[in-house]
Amino acid sequence: MDCNYVRPAPDGMASTTSYFKSVPAIMLNNLDIQQQITEAIERVEILSERFTRDGSGWIIDEIENVTLHTSVYDPIGGSSFIHTPDWIAHKMAVVNIQNKDEKCFLYCVLAVSHPQKYNAYRASHYEQYLPELNLQDLSFPLEIGQIPKFEANNSDYAINVMRIDDDEEESFAPLYATKYRNRKHLVWMLLLDEGEKRHYVLIRNLGRMLRGRNTGSNQVFPCPYCLYCFSSESGMQNHIDDCGKMGVQKVRYPEPPNTTLTFSNHQNQMEMPFVIYSDFESYLQKNEEEIGKSTKFCDTHTPSGFCCLTVSKFPEYNNEEPFIYSGDGDVVDAFFTHLNQERVRINEILKKASTTSPSPL
Ligand SMILES: [Zn+2]
Repeated sequence: MDCNYVRPAPDGMASTTSYFKSVPAIMLNNLDIQQQITEAIERVEILSERFTRDGSGWIIDEIENVTLHTSVYDPIGGSSFIHTPDWIAHKMAVVNIQNKDEKCFLYCVLAVSHPQKYNAYRASHYEQYLPELNLQDLSFPLEIGQIPKFEANNSDYAINVMRIDDDEEESFAPLYATKYRNRKHLVWMLLLDEGEKRHYVLIRNLGRMLRGRNTGSNQVFPCPYCLYCFSSESGMQNHIDDCGKMGVQKVRYPEPPNTTLTFSNHQNQMEMPFVIYSDFESYLQKNEEEIGKSTKFCDTHTPSGFCCLTVSKFPEYNNEEPFIYSGDGDVVDAFFTHLNQERVRINEILKKASTTSPSPL
């Protein structure tokens, strides 16, 4: 940046030009532009301030020229690093640490215990902390099957890993769920793959990562086994023990038009000689009662009447009128009385049929 300065001089105004340079920055994602420009401006401001302080009297007159130099950067060949797919990068929810070795898993873990405000994607921030980890019996790149060993070695960490679900657009599926609760550091990772390569990426904002699944909120508590997002931690804790029994799983809803479940095993049906269909009518009675912290009874359904229709596979008995009951008496009692009467009537018919017909019913 070329900057012109002026200051009063005995014979009018003196002027000078100063040239400031910001440091080169590596940009792997166009979403980093704003952050990097801000950092560059901050640096130029500091340099400019140094130039004008200590009573030099120089005042900025104009910024004559700003030049931005760019060149294509080939980050890391031959390591396990994989770029974040754009649709995930746009969520601004992950830190993709640029490792040149096979230790992306460890850098993700250390990025949680030693969070970095700036340039968190640089592996060099975390290399110094590697000796904190117990890597006994582990080999790298770390396979999913070795994570329990890592967790056993390193009792501060609990690990959850998800992957991109290739069967559904822009979606994730759980890959590994920790069995540990209440460990000091809970680490959520995304495992990317590209051909033979695998690469762990740290998920820094779960809410943004999973937004659009079943919540619009940033603060979510996803179940590590099924990735269902709860709005409260207690809701997730209530669910997780049962869900964990099934291991990691992906809930997938059917897509239209295949969203109706119909009965198809007609061969398993057994024909009954008589069937009674019934329907109750009820009215609501206010009956407010607190049940626990978040559950309240509001109303009681009180039956006021019912209708029963008896149908039969025998045409001669398949002409019953519906039985309708409505009244103030004990409706449920009347229902069972009617059923009992029908039972006696049907039994009589069946008894008669079995003595007159040679074929079993
Ligand atoms: Zn679950």
